[in-house]
Amino acid sequence: MIVVMQEGATEEQIDAVISAMVEVGVGVHRTTGASQTILAGVGPTAAVDLSLFEVLPGVLNVHRISSPYKLAGRAFRPEGTVVEFANGVQVGGKQVALMAGPCSVENREQIFAIAKCVKAAGGQFLRGGAYKPRSSPYAFQGLGIPGLEMLHDAAQENGLLTVTEVMEIAQIEPMLPYTDMFQVGARNMQNFNLLRELGQIRKPVLLKRGIAATIEELLLSAEYIMAGGNYDVILCERGIRTYETATRNTMDLSAIPMIHKLSHLPMVADPSHGTGRREMVTPMARAAVAAGADAIMVEIHPNADKAASDAAQTLYLDQFEKLVYELRIIAKAVGRTL
Ligand code: PEP
Ligand code: MN
Repeated sequence: MIVVMQEGATEEQIDAVISAMVEVGVGVHRTTGASQTILAGVGPTAAVDLSLFEVLPGVLNVHRISSPYKLAGRAFRPEGTVVEFANGVQVGGKQVALMAGPCSVENREQIFAIAKCVKAAGGQFLRGGAYKPRSSPYAFQGLGIPGLEMLHDAAQENGLLTVTEVMEIAQIEPMLPYTDMFQVGARNMQNFNLLRELGQIRKPVLLKRGIAATIEELLLSAEYIMAGGNYDVILCERGIRTYETATRNTMDLSAIPMIHKLSHLPMVADPSHGTGRREMVTPMARAAVAAGADAIMVEIHPNADKAASDAAQTLYLDQFEKLVYELRIIAKAVGRTL
């Protein structure tokens, strides 16, 4: 950590900051410039709360120079992580993976029709929520276990993997037989107890970025899961809330190359939640592949306008087929397959 003192900071103020740094266990290296003093702290700074130093008299600002996440950081696995599934499917390798399905599992007919389409398009993952985090308690909340059974059966019949959202610790155990990858939704990105518990299982976790989360906060949430020994974490950019209201969320495409720089974990892009608008899903999916996404996750439905949740951002099946055709061309152009 680096503490930059204000111009004119007194010796007493500098001494007080040095004492505070020593107290939290870091070694201090002082540089006294013509007008400003800089204090470099070396040692176990990951757990140090920098704001404690920012408020000390005479301090101008405080920076961290080593990342606060050790397991999720790129240095832990410089070559990058490839998450491998039981059937040999990989996420994080040369092939861009395809995850598609409805926002919510609604009935057998719906999920079987979708699974068939995902398989025919060359997809690997069937997504679909059975536990839905809805803004309104009166909106469709998902089918629960019967929905998971349908999802699992449809995936099995078509040789696909399942990815579905877990909202609370008590759901983990009953979901295990139906789930190849647990999705942690944006609203639960900082449900630390849930993250810790998912660190104890040995199944991949798709961790979505919270609507107001910084990249550092997303990586710290991944760290919670990895600290339990579950290293199979895949991150997902699904849009963040900004001052822009024309789209449901602002899809932060720069998060893809930035996270690839900061972390070794694979990165999925979800342009459905990222934009909230059907006509924008395709252009943003194309851009995400071009930006280096390791997988694309999209919501699709045979009767998209009538989907029980997220209808406005859901693609019709023929739109999805066309999208996949286009993504293959873009993947090739950036040295990937799809
Ligand atoms: C979803 O995938 O349907 C979902 C609820 O996602 P998010 O948590 O990104 O809103
Ligand atoms: Mn959705």
